[in-house]
Amino acid sequence: MTAKTIGIIGGGQLGRMLAIAAARLNFRTIILEPQTDCPAAQLANRQITAAYDDPAALAELADVCDVVTYEFENVPVKAAETLSASVSVYPPPKALEAAQDRLVEKRFLNGCGIITARFHTVDSQADLEMALEDFGGQGVLKTRRLGYDGKGQTVFRSVADSPDGAYAALGGVPLILESFVAFEREVSIIAARATDGTVVCFDPAENVHRSGILHTSTVPATISPTTADAARRSAETILAALNYVGVIGIEFFVLADGGLIANEMAPRVHNSGHWTEAACVVSQFEQHIRAVAGMPLGDAGRHSDCVMQNLIGDDILAVPDWLQRADTLVHLYGKTEWRPGRKMGHVTTLTPKSPNLA
Ligand code: AMP
Repeated sequence: MTAKTIGIIGGGQLGRMLAIAAARLNFRTIILEPQTDCPAAQLANRQITAAYDDPAALAELADVCDVVTYEFENVPVKAAETLSASVSVYPPPKALEAAQDRLVEKRFLNGCGIITARFHTVDSQADLEMALEDFGGQGVLKTRRLGYDGKGQTVFRSVADSPDGAYAALGGVPLILESFVAFEREVSIIAARATDGTVVCFDPAENVHRSGILHTSTVPATISPTTADAARRSAETILAALNYVGVIGIEFFVLADGGLIANEMAPRVHNSGHWTEAACVVSQFEQHIRAVAGMPLGDAGRHSDCVMQNLIGDDILAVPDWLQRADTLVHLYGKTEWRPGRKMGHVTTLTPKSPNLA
C-alpha cells in the first residue's frame, strides 16, 4: 500500500495517539498546531506551526495531505470549510458546527429524536432568573461555547443557591441553563462510521468525573442490555444524520429507570474511549484513522474487562508503581511539566472478561 498523508488539526494527546495509530498503518501525519513541541508533533512526521485558521498554513496542509482530520472540536468551522474545498475533511465540518455550541447541539439532538436535559437560552441575568424559576431553582448554567472539563459552569442545586451575579460571573457570554438531571450514573459510547456508511460501536463505558474532569472509565458499564442498545441506536442516528466519517464520542446520563439523557457529543476520539487500546484489538484511534482514510473499520469487540484511569497533575508521580503491574497498560503524553488538572497520561487495568450484560 502506498503511504498517504493525514493532516491532523490540533497537537494534544489525542492527536498524538492518532499519529501513533496512523504510523502503524503506514500513513504519514502532519500536525497543524501553534504550540511547538506539542504532544502530537513529537510523534508525527511534521508540524506546521501556525494558528488553526492561518490561511497560508491551511493552504499548505490541503496541498500536502490526502485527507485532513482534527483532534478537538473547537477547530474554527470556517477553517474546516475552507480546507474541504480542496481536500477531504473528516468528520464533516457540519459535525463541528453541531458540537461547538450547546444550544445548536441540543437542537440537533432533539431533532434526531434524542432526549436531552430541558434547557433555556440565557443572555442576561433576567433570562437566568426566569429560567431558574421554570426549573424550580435547580439547573446547570453553562457557556454555550468553549466549555470543557466542567469549566464555564455553575450548578444550582436548590432555591438556596442564589443566582445573583451568576450571569456576569461566566463572562457575559451566551449561556444555556439546563435542567438538573438526577442521574444514577454517566456512560458514553464511542462509535465509528466509515465512508461507505458502515457503523461500529464499542461497548458503552461508565464514567466517573472528579472536579469536572474524567477520572475513570469502566467497561462493562453497569447498565442493562436495553440501555446499551439505546445508546448504540442514538449513535447510529447521529452518525447518519451528519453523514459522518470517523469516530465520535457521545456522553449520556442514565436515569434510575435505565432511560438515557444525552449530555454532549464530541466529533473526535474521546478520553472515555482510551480503554479500547488495551481491551480491544482495534483501538478508537486506529478506528478513526481507518475511517478517515477510507479503509474498512475494525472489529470493536472487547477481549477483557477494564478500568481506564486518567493520570492528572501529580498522579504522574505514581507511574513507577503502575509500571510494576502486569495487568496495566501505561500511556504517557510527552508533557514535561505537570500542573494541577493537566492530563499527563492514563493507565488501563485489564481483568478477565465477565459475562457482559451490556
Ligand atoms: P459537561 O461539561 O456538560 O460534560 O458537564 C460536566 C459534568 O457536570 C457532567 O459530566 C455531569 O457530571 C455534570 N452535569 C452536567 N450537566 C448536568 C445536568 N444538566 N444535570 C446534572 N449534572 C450535570
